[in-house]
Amino acid sequence: MFPGYAQDYIEPSTAQDERYAFIAEWYDPQAALIRRYQFLFYPKDNSIEMFDIKNRRKFLARTKSDTVRLEDMFIGSKIHVYSRQLTFVDFGDKFTEGKVGMKNEKTLAIIKPEAIGKVGVFFNILNKNDIKPCKVKMLKLSRKKVAEFYEEHRSKPFFNTLLEYMSSGPVIAMELMGTGVISKWRNLLGPTDSQKARETDPNSIRARFGTDTTSNAAHGSDSEQSANRELDFFFPPSGSGGFDVTSHLTDCTCCIIKPHAVRNGIEGDIIEAIQNAGFQISAMEMFNVETANGEEFYEIYKGVVNEYPNMVTEICSGPCIALEITGKGGDTTAQFRELCGPSDPEIARHLRPKTLRAMFGKDKIQNAVHCTDLPEDGVLEAEYFFRILSN
Ligand code: AMP
Repeated sequence: MFPGYAQDYIEPSTAQDERYAFIAEWYDPQAALIRRYQFLFYPKDNSIEMFDIKNRRKFLARTKSDTVRLEDMFIGSKIHVYSRQLTFVDFGDKFTEGKVGMKNEKTLAIIKPEAIGKVGVFFNILNKNDIKPCKVKMLKLSRKKVAEFYEEHRSKPFFNTLLEYMSSGPVIAMELMGTGVISKWRNLLGPTDSQKARETDPNSIRARFGTDTTSNAAHGSDSEQSANRELDFFFPPSGSGGFDVTSHLTDCTCCIIKPHAVRNGIEGDIIEAIQNAGFQISAMEMFNVETANGEEFYEIYKGVVNEYPNMVTEICSGPCIALEITGKGGDTTAQFRELCGPSDPEIARHLRPKTLRAMFGKDKIQNAVHCTDLPEDGVLEAEYFFRILSN
């Protein structure tokens, strides 16, 4: 594909020889330009190799990597390689497109206002069914936005009720990805009418969390064409889409579900534990944190804790989920820290086994969640994610 570099690929004779190729971009802040690479991944030894497309030369010799995984490579995904955040923008050859492309089907899911309190369960359903949430954002829909989204139903008798319901509280929009995800997600939702769902499909999402035909817990796109339109509506390629934000940025604290927890599919259990403990999640968004932002966010720990560089590496190592936590009255930051427990999970498991870090943490770096330390920083940290990093 790129003469002089890695050859276009011939279907391997055994899985041992497999090689996947992508086109990846990196924004070089020094030169203020976007650099393009041919990115190769060899599952046999989990190694990567990169070629600079413009300069026509090898950029990274084949090197083993502990962190990259094939399942994190899809069009639009971001991975970190030596402090560079790479974005995959295309497949690099037909073999990769054929093998990976079918797993890249996307759909839009909306968790509707009545089901927001169950968002942890939703994440668990997705994980159990091999569906990957690639984008996640809590937002508030105005009546105007609901009308725009449901334009096709404008003349229907239930249109007004639909406007009322969908604008009655925050919703969570998600871009979901997986093999056959459009029909898979709609099957998991069950019939539109939640009451009918309870009779015919009692394990479905609408049977479990919905009320009736309008208040039916969640949405899923009905075709590839709808999915593309609806994903562009909620996650426009540029700009924020003009939705109302849900973050309070007052009397709140900040929680970051770390990339290792998202990678291992335990974010649903963590969110469930937070909600079961009586905290409200007033804002939620999935972020791919760049190195400069990771360093800035953790700046107060620089020179104070030895783990600072590794903390930055971890928070930038893949998608994380930021939460604004409110709702217990009193000092939310201190109360939430109690739920998180000691920062070292080993110590937490001895002293406070019911805390989030004891239950979900691995070590001092991969300790499941970051939580704000000082009460006065709760608002500042929430602002960093939900006002500065959020577009
Ligand atoms: P759909 O385009 O089929 O996903 O419908 C959009 C949403 O409109 C549904 O998820 C319901 O919330 C609502 N809705 C659809 N059909 C009806 C109906 N017959 N009566 C009341 N609400 C409905």
